[in-house]
Amino acid sequence: MGWEEKFAFRDCPWCGLTNTKLVPKSVNQECANRDGQSRWWATLGCPACGSAVLIEHTAPNVSWPAPLRVIPKGIEDETEIRHLPDDVKRYYLGAVRVLQVGVPDAAAVQLRRTLEAAAAHYGIKEKVLMKSIEKLIADGHVTKSFEPLLHHIRVVGNVGAHASDENVDQATAEGALRFTTQLLRNLFEVPGELEALQKPTSVEGLPPAPGGGPA
Ligand SMILES: [Zn+2]
Repeated sequence: MGWEEKFAFRDCPWCGLTNTKLVPKSVNQECANRDGQSRWWATLGCPACGSAVLIEHTAPNVSWPAPLRVIPKGIEDETEIRHLPDDVKRYYLGAVRVLQVGVPDAAAVQLRRTLEAAAAHYGIKEKVLMKSIEKLIADGHVTKSFEPLLHHIRVVGNVGAHASDENVDQATAEGALRFTTQLLRNLFEVPGELEALQKPTSVEGLPPAPGGGPA
């Protein structure tokens, strides 16, 4: 047992190829640690981009074979943001997915919508995104240092949305995705973690964390 063929059905974490089967090159590879305990690995190749993917799997003698970890992680794992509201997550993951399949224009538009949804979550629904961004900053939800990044995402989204000679390239869209990830951490992950800290289970004697969660 150990390795099972079904573990090979997965997206390529390098190029984002979906609904595919990676090609097993070598499976049930045993590596012992300093205490003599074995770990088991499989090496697979992506048929599209030729990258190697490493999967740690359960030992050949266990009755419940399973993959334990995949290296590298895919873009969705790397961009995971805690406490992200579902309405914002929908657009954000949409951007991640279309970027994976190489449609940067569509990703740029989804990132712009992500900003709109994030602002709406804070009760800001201006007609023009520029105004919503200004209000997010004025209300103190985002620090002013984010301002140029927010406008960058907005402008990239505009280029993606309009048919013209100008296109959004993959690198620009990936940059906008990184900025958006930072912004969403600032807007949702940090307040969410602070809120979790303030739950009654927190350690006695520690002062409560400052600030509150999103409205
Ligand atoms: Zn690939």
